[in-house]
Amino acid sequence: RTRLACLTSGGDSAGMNAAVRAVVKMAIARGCEAYVVREGWEGLVRGNEESSHVPTDNATSPPLAGAPVDVNAPQRKGGFVATYGEGELLKEGEGEQTLKGRYIIRVGWDDVRGFASIGGTLIGTARCAAFREIEGRRKAALNLVRHGIDALVVCGGDGSLTGADRLRAEWPEHIQALLESGDISQEQYDTYKHLNIVGLVGSIDNDMAGTDMTIGATTALHRICDAVDSISSTASSHSRAFVIEVMGRHCGWLALMAAIATGADYMFIPERPPTAEDWQSSMCKVLSRHRDEGKRKTIVIIAEGAHDCNLNPITPDMVKDVLSNRLGLDTRVTTLGHTQRGGNPVAYDRILATLQGAEAVEAVLASTPNTPSPVIGIQENKITRQPLMDAVAKTQEVAKAIERKDFEGALGLRDPEFED
Ligand code: ATP
Repeated sequence: RTRLACLTSGGDSAGMNAAVRAVVKMAIARGCEAYVVREGWEGLVRGNEESSHVPTDNATSPPLAGAPVDVNAPQRKGGFVATYGEGELLKEGEGEQTLKGRYIIRVGWDDVRGFASIGGTLIGTARCAAFREIEGRRKAALNLVRHGIDALVVCGGDGSLTGADRLRAEWPEHIQALLESGDISQEQYDTYKHLNIVGLVGSIDNDMAGTDMTIGATTALHRICDAVDSISSTASSHSRAFVIEVMGRHCGWLALMAAIATGADYMFIPERPPTAEDWQSSMCKVLSRHRDEGKRKTIVIIAEGAHDCNLNPITPDMVKDVLSNRLGLDTRVTTLGHTQRGGNPVAYDRILATLQGAEAVEAVLASTPNTPSPVIGIQENKITRQPLMDAVAKTQEVAKAIERKDFEGALGLRDPEFED
């Protein structure tokens, strides 16, 4: 019986919980044992402290179709967090205490109840320096074998998925070394010769090559639009200008879509920075025209990548100075920051994460030792599978192309059918 674990890693994004829920429920429905790993790769490297051992067989079983529900049966507590869904453990602040020292947890059907509508990631995420090193990944391998886990679904950005690919590529080496060091038995070695890994892309930036949409990007876009709408009404009242910084390091998708959706006057994205010489005049020309046409507000959206990478750095304060000094506009800067990540996922992210989570389990069950690890995407409204490393390698190539200012190359890599 496949023992399948799910973890979330890297920056959180709305919809990760819906993905975990879908993976857990689909895994159980397809006859697997389901686990979650708390705190991303960090949890896998740490494993469970000996003293924290809790029998794993108290996770709930899937409800049997058609089975009568015993309303008088005592409510089950235990397993993972039977109550996470209802928020009880979180509310009481007991979650961390109950789960102290336990990172790899068997979960049942009820444990993920209510997850779909909650923002962030309830099983936690982290950046894990140890996992970047081979020793850290070996510890992770040992913990997987100790728990008898032979399949892993990882939801995160390109960094987390690179880590996943590495773990899978090194797996034979890891278990050989663990056998030689006596950390695992010959029987464990024979049983866990292969590890299946499937990636889900959780990222608010929508920056993964080979998929039209990543889990969490649509929710972040909604948060940005709400914020810009709020700012717009006060901007109009006072006839002010606002420079609004949004997230997006190597990818201007959030800035571009927010500019379209809110009718912003001007925007800066990393893929299409203006030349150093003329950006001030060309921006002022557009903004003056809008004012001449009667607009009482000016909204400029700037992606953090417009000044974060080694481009012609254009910072929100630089834009503000130009608007104030050259156009005489009363200008404010607003950095939206983490409000963009937070809050409940919009319906699209819940649906995307659910469809992709279910597909991830199917991909686990279909994979063989020779199948490359897949990543689940969506293209032209169809859920897709493609080799994880191809998507990650392309995404990293795009980021590098942007850093060396090869913008056409970057857009061509992202979408081969791209035409200027
Ligand atoms: P985001 O899109 O929010 O940045 P991400 O998944 O790309 O998400 P990273 O911080 O790049 O976030 O990576 C998350 C974790 O994945 C790292 O802390 C590390 O544990 C692991 N990781 C990243 N890159 C590698 C790598 N090259 N090799 C092994 N592990 C890696």
